Amino acid sequence: MEFPQPTELTIDEPINPVDQSCPRCSADTMYRYRLVDYRGWLEVVKCRSCLHVEDRRPIVAPPQGTP
Ligand SMILES: [Zn+2]
Repeated sequence: MEFPQPTELTIDEPINPVDQSCPRCSADTMYRYRLVDYRGWLEVVKCRSCLHVEDRRPIVAPPQGTP
């Protein structure tokens, strides 16, 4: 089975700034977003400077494919 070529250039995954400073590197803002790892989908609050993960929780997998 073939899938159509994506038309957008970037993955439109919302990355939400969180008004919380990083306890490790003192960056002003951390970011809440979804990711997937070997355990499945997670929502994380993560520092994008030092990659410290402040919070993570499993979430239901979002729907895949075209809306
Ligand atoms: Zn940090």
